[in-house]
Amino acid sequence: MDLKDCFVVEAKMALPNQFFVGRIGSRWIIAMRDQKKIMGLRCEKCGVTYVPPREQCHRCWSWIADNWVEVGTTGELVNYTVVRYNDKHTPKKAPYVLGQIRLAGADTPLTHIVGDVDPADVYPGMKVQAVFADGPVNTLMQIDHFRPL
Ligand SMILES: [Zn+2]
Repeated sequence: MDLKDCFVVEAKMALPNQFFVGRIGSRWIIAMRDQKKIMGLRCEKCGVTYVPPREQCHRCWSWIADNWVEVGTTGELVNYTVVRYNDKHTPKKAPYVLGQIRLAGADTPLTHIVGDVDPADVYPGMKVQAVFADGPVNTLMQIDHFRPL
């Protein structure tokens, strides 16, 4: 067969799947689900609190997986974008705001949805609060979204 007789078909596949979120991710999600608490991991050497939690400090490479601290459920929107397309894999119907939120007591931003607000009214520095999902979701969507304070 000659190469000129070959062609490529563009297609999409949706593959249901499961994966283990690890002991850090599991503990993080369980605290949100069962206690409505957001936890971080803190490097005492650097004074940095990571949310989402990391088992190793990205500055000094110390293992910090046992140094859990509770952070606030409120924070500040560091930056954001407006998602303007719909896809069966997107968590909300467009348009919606995807923001980076630095929670009170955390040093690294958590990427999440900012809702209950017109995207035109969103701005960096906006104070937001976590709105937890009603039932068990068992993913990062245990926080349904953040809303303006
Ligand atoms: Zn460190």
